[in-house]
Amino acid sequence: MLQLQLLILGLCCALSSPLSTVSKSPSRLKNPAEASARVVGPKQALIYDTTLRDGTQGEGISMSVEDKLSVFDQLVKFGFDYVEGGWPGSNPKDKDFFARCASMEDTHRDKLVAFGSTRRKFTKVEDDKQVEALITSGARSVCLVGKASLSQVENILGATPEEGLLMISDTVSYLVSKNIKVFVDLEHYFDGYLESPDYASRLVEACCSSGASAIVLCDTNGGTLPWELETFTKTAVSHPSVVENKVTVGVHCHNDIGMAVANSLAAVKGGAGLVQGCVNGVGERTGNADIVSIIGTLALKMGTQLSEGVETENLTSLSRFVDEVLNRAPDQAQPYVGSAAFAHKGGLHVSAMEKDPTSYQHIDPALVGNVRRTVVSELSGRMNIVKRLQEIGVDGNEDEPDNKDWLNERATAILTRVKKLESIGYTFEGADASVKLMMLHATKRYCPPFRVLDYSATVWDQFIDSASRVLYKKKKTGGGTPGKWGVNAASDSLDEGERATARATVKVQSLYERDWIADDPEHDGSVEKIERLEVADGNGPVDALALALKRALVPSYPFLSKVQLTDYKVRILDNEAATEAATRVLIEFTETETNRKWNTVSVDRNVISASLNALVDGYEYALLEHETFCMLCPADYDEIDIGGWE
Ligand SMILES: [Zn+2]
Repeated sequence: MLQLQLLILGLCCALSSPLSTVSKSPSRLKNPAEASARVVGPKQALIYDTTLRDGTQGEGISMSVEDKLSVFDQLVKFGFDYVEGGWPGSNPKDKDFFARCASMEDTHRDKLVAFGSTRRKFTKVEDDKQVEALITSGARSVCLVGKASLSQVENILGATPEEGLLMISDTVSYLVSKNIKVFVDLEHYFDGYLESPDYASRLVEACCSSGASAIVLCDTNGGTLPWELETFTKTAVSHPSVVENKVTVGVHCHNDIGMAVANSLAAVKGGAGLVQGCVNGVGERTGNADIVSIIGTLALKMGTQLSEGVETENLTSLSRFVDEVLNRAPDQAQPYVGSAAFAHKGGLHVSAMEKDPTSYQHIDPALVGNVRRTVVSELSGRMNIVKRLQEIGVDGNEDEPDNKDWLNERATAILTRVKKLESIGYTFEGADASVKLMMLHATKRYCPPFRVLDYSATVWDQFIDSASRVLYKKKKTGGGTPGKWGVNAASDSLDEGERATARATVKVQSLYERDWIADDPEHDGSVEKIERLEVADGNGPVDALALALKRALVPSYPFLSKVQLTDYKVRILDNEAATEAATRVLIEFTETETNRKWNTVSVDRNVISASLNALVDGYEYALLEHETFCMLCPADYDEIDIGGWE
C-alpha cells in the first residue's frame, strides 16, 4: 500500500522537475538491540508511535476500528518498533481493536502496545479491573502511565508519596509476572523533577527495580525548554538503577510551546533511546511531537541508527496516508513531507536551484519521498504520465508509426487534466482507483463498462434532529423509552424508524449482458447496450444511490454483488464559502471475499453529484480489476460518446 501511495504521489507530483541530487543518503541502519537490552541515544533510538492513542485525543480527530487497523498496519510496515494501539480498559472501541489484533501475526503483535493506568490507590493490583483489561487485551507489551509529580500525587490522586510509588511498582511487577513487557510513561516528569528531584529519583528506582523495560519521561504540559530537558534526561539515563537494570529511557513530548520535536531530539542527545510521537504531530491541545520530523532528523541529521526496515523515503507517503484516514487536510508547510517543503517559487531561487540544487534545499527531497517543485516542467511531467500509461497497459499500438505522437498527446492532455483537477481541489493520494480510471478515460477506444444516463435522489424527514433537539424529537415521535435521549441506550445506535429516509433512482446503460457473452464466447466485440432503471431506499441519499446503482448493474455484472461501500468521507474545501464551497468525497470500497480495498475521489459543488461520481468510479474500477472483459472496443468507440473531456 505504501508503495502504491508512492506511485500515486509520483503522479500527483508529475509537475515537478527531476529530483535533485543534494545531500547524502542516511547511513544504513542496523537493528538496535531490544529495549530490554537498553538503547542509549543519540547513536541508536527506538521509535514508538502513539497516534492511535494519544493522537486521537486531538480535537477533531476520530478513528473507527477499521481506521485504526489500517493505520496500525501501515505503521508496522513502515518499521516502527512499537505502536500504541489504545486503552483497552477505557472504551469498547479500543477493546474491540485489541481483540481484532490478537489474531494477527507476530510481526504485528510484537509491536503492539496497550496503554493503561497503574492500579488505583489502596487497591490490590489483582483486583483492579482496568489492569485486568490490559492483560485480557492479549497485548504483549503494556505502557502504564504513572504520576511523577509529587504535588499531583498528593493533591490530585490524594495519595501519600509512598502509595504513589507502590501503585507503580506493584502494577509493573504484576504485569511482568504475567510475561508482559512493561513501559512506564512518567507523567509530568520534568515538572516533577523541578519540584522534587528526590521523588523523581525514587520513582525511577521503583520502575527499574520492579522490572520495567523502559521508563518514558513525559513533558505532559509541553512547557519544558530543550536545554533543561536534555539535562534532566541525562540525569535519568545515568541513574544507577537505570544502568544496573539495563533500562531504556524514553521521551514523550507535547508541543505547547512549539518545542515538541526539539525537545524529543534534545532528549535523544541526552541519552534517551526511545522516542514517542504521533504522525503529523496530531494530539491533545497543540499536539504531540511530530514523529515524522523526528525520524527525518534522527536519520538524516543526527546519524542515529533506527531499526532495520525504516526507510526515510517512505515518510511522505506515511504522512499523507494518515492524514487521509483522519480526513485532515495535509499541512503544506509540514517539515520534510509537506507539498511546499521543497517548493521554489520564481525569481532568484529558481535560477540558483538550476545551477546548484543545494542552494535552497537542506536535503534531497527524494530522501524523504518528497519532490522538489519549481517551475512546471512540461517535459518531465509528461514523461511521468507516459510511463504510467505504459504501466497500466494503455500504450496504444507500438507498431503504428504515429504511436509515439499519440502517447505524447494523451500524456499532455492528462497532465493538463491533473493540473486542472488539482486546482479545483482533487487529491489523488488516497484514490488509486480514480487515477487509473482517469487515465483510461483519456485513452482512445476505452469503453467504460457502463454509463449512468441519469439519476435522482430525494430525502425526507419529519423532524429536524440536531443534537440540541434530540430529546424534543423523541417526545414528539413517542418511540423508545419516554424521556430518554434519541440515541437508543440498549444498542447505542440511532433508533430505526427515526432516521431520515432517502430514495434514489438510477438509470444505467450497460455495454454488455453477462449471459450474452457467456453464451457466445466468439462474440465479435460489438457492443450490446442494455438500459436499466432501478430505485432503492436507503439510510441517506448516498446509501440509496449506491443501492440503486448496484441493483441496476448486478444483472449485467453479478460480481458487483460482492462489492461493499466501506467508508465515506466528505471534506469541504473552502471553509470560508461554507455551503457554497466545493466538496471532496472519498469513498472506500471492499470486495467481501478477498477483502481487497480501493478508493475513489470526486469533487463537486454538489455533495450528491460528487458522491455519485465517486460511486461510479468505484464500481467501474471493480469491474476492470476483477472481471475479464475487453476494455478497448475498436469497432464501436466512435459511436459511443464517453463524454471525452479534452
Ligand atoms: Zn501525551
